[in-house]
Amino acid sequence: MKRTLILESLQGVGKTVLLQGWVNARRDHGQVIFIDLRDRSGIVQVVGGKELSSLRDEDVVEIEGLVKKRPEKLINPNLSTGKIEIEARKVKVLSKSLELPLPVSGDGRDIEEVVRLKYRYLDLRRPRLNKNIRLRSKFVDLCRQYLFSNDFVEIETPLLTKSTPEGSRDFVVPSRLQPGKFYALPQSPQQYKQLLMVAGFERYFQIARCLRDEDLRADRGFEHTQIDMEMSFVKREDIMKITEEMFISVFEKLGGKILKKPFPVFSYEKALKKFGADKFDLRNESQKKENILSFAWVVDFPFFEKDKEGKWTYTHNPFSNPVEEDKEKFLKGKIEGIRTSQYDLICNGYEVGGGSIRSTNPKILSKVFSVLGYEDKEIQEKFGHILEAFKYGVPPHGGIAPGIDRLLMVLTGETALKEVVAFPTTASGQTSVMSAPAKLSQEQLKELGIKVIK
Ligand code: ASP
Repeated sequence: MKRTLILESLQGVGKTVLLQGWVNARRDHGQVIFIDLRDRSGIVQVVGGKELSSLRDEDVVEIEGLVKKRPEKLINPNLSTGKIEIEARKVKVLSKSLELPLPVSGDGRDIEEVVRLKYRYLDLRRPRLNKNIRLRSKFVDLCRQYLFSNDFVEIETPLLTKSTPEGSRDFVVPSRLQPGKFYALPQSPQQYKQLLMVAGFERYFQIARCLRDEDLRADRGFEHTQIDMEMSFVKREDIMKITEEMFISVFEKLGGKILKKPFPVFSYEKALKKFGADKFDLRNESQKKENILSFAWVVDFPFFEKDKEGKWTYTHNPFSNPVEEDKEKFLKGKIEGIRTSQYDLICNGYEVGGGSIRSTNPKILSKVFSVLGYEDKEIQEKFGHILEAFKYGVPPHGGIAPGIDRLLMVLTGETALKEVVAFPTTASGQTSVMSAPAKLSQEQLKELGIKVIK
């Protein structure tokens, strides 16, 4: 007999169906036993006698049974299959389950993080998390659909690459074939996507994994996924518009309510004056309770700021162009007050994405790197490839990279990234289920030419 999904069994009143799934709950009334059976489509009540008595919560079972309409007064309005029940005929246990080390029926927020992540595959059975992860998949699907229908090409870029500055520390991978040399995992595909513009793709996107060795917070992990986009022959307003249209369409399809359309735009200066920060929430308390989405743009950031040691550093992205009005001043040597073409997307007080129009003028790029303290030789070594690429017909271009994890966090109203990521790390950077980081064997270290110093 072919398997029927639980939700499909609604259509099978009077017929015998074969269901497969997990025992969600079991109620033993002596003569009569009830099982709530769960599969990916939903939950249904199965009723039977002795044949159900050996079943326990979370056993995986196969049940052949007759679909029966429930009498009017026994209908369960809280269950999508509440109008029917299955009268068990044959029961087969496919796999027994031990008692779970953590309850998975509640929202799980009060369970210790280490336990939830050690048993993440069980934690993910929790309806709230299951829903979040499915929503994430739907969200990515809708973004893809939108981008494909707007002529974007999805292109993968390497994970083993060279350090590209995004303002964070790199995760590095030692090379076996060239001991003493290292790859860097990408903090973003920034330079590759710009090279794809030189290659003539004009509209690129990638659901890109980015790795940054930063101190962890509830809204920041070592890894994050972004909808990495780049477009040629555009102005900053074009990129802001297409991003905004995509999110209005995607969020509304998923049932999100957006506070202000079009998204309001604030200059960095105005944002600081009005909100005291460049991330802010425009909602009142009742709008917050309803989880309305408050998107806004922030533009005209200063390009540079002084770091702790008093040295100039970039505020966002060294590959950005200064705004048109400031370019000449910058080339003449001004640093302070030069504005970047950067735009940040804010939602509900979080920065959920950012991008810029890129500098394709080697003079400006080299000047940026020299302000950042690189010597000419170092600029050639680190960025020579992109400066060279720009000598062969580079289109004006720009892009953006909205972060999927944070966007899902605001959409679901969650306050921690780990609630929308299938296998997140703990607050101290330990991976879920498999405990990494872990030691390497002496042989592996030797092969890599690495000596660990205590
Ligand atoms: N590379 C930038 C980032 O990852 C985004 C961009 O400018 O496109 O934040």
